[in-house]
Amino acid sequence: MFGLWYNADMLKEFKIETDREGIYNITDTVRLAISESGIGEGIAVIFCAHTTAGITINENADPDVIHDLLLGLEKAFPDRKEFKHAEGNSSAHLKTSCVGASETVIITKGKLILGTWQGIYFCEFDGPRTRKFTVKVIEG
Ligand code: ZN
Repeated sequence: MFGLWYNADMLKEFKIETDREGIYNITDTVRLAISESGIGEGIAVIFCAHTTAGITINENADPDVIHDLLLGLEKAFPDRKEFKHAEGNSSAHLKTSCVGASETVIITKGKLILGTWQGIYFCEFDGPRTRKFTVKVIEG
């Protein structure tokens, strides 16, 4: 599922193969990137450089939450005949702006500060595609 490269700038890029629509838990991948960085105190920025896919933090306990997020976003941002965007994927652009392109998490003692029920998710709204996201670890 993932490929990556690593350089001295504490920057890692990951590839992810997606379905037409989906929300993928990438928390363990982000944890691995932080662990390999060797940084004890700082922040990590998880960024998605796409306009129809994003990053969010939400519940990791009940998988039905992911189902309901996708359902709710579809209800909130359905395809509309009034849309002008020629590519025909304005609904995916709207959903992406709603969830956002990045999340920032705090690292302390080499570990992410996340709530018990929180996970970090890559959100696909216009797949299937080979996507990528970037993790930047900043010491401080
Ligand atoms: Zn488009």
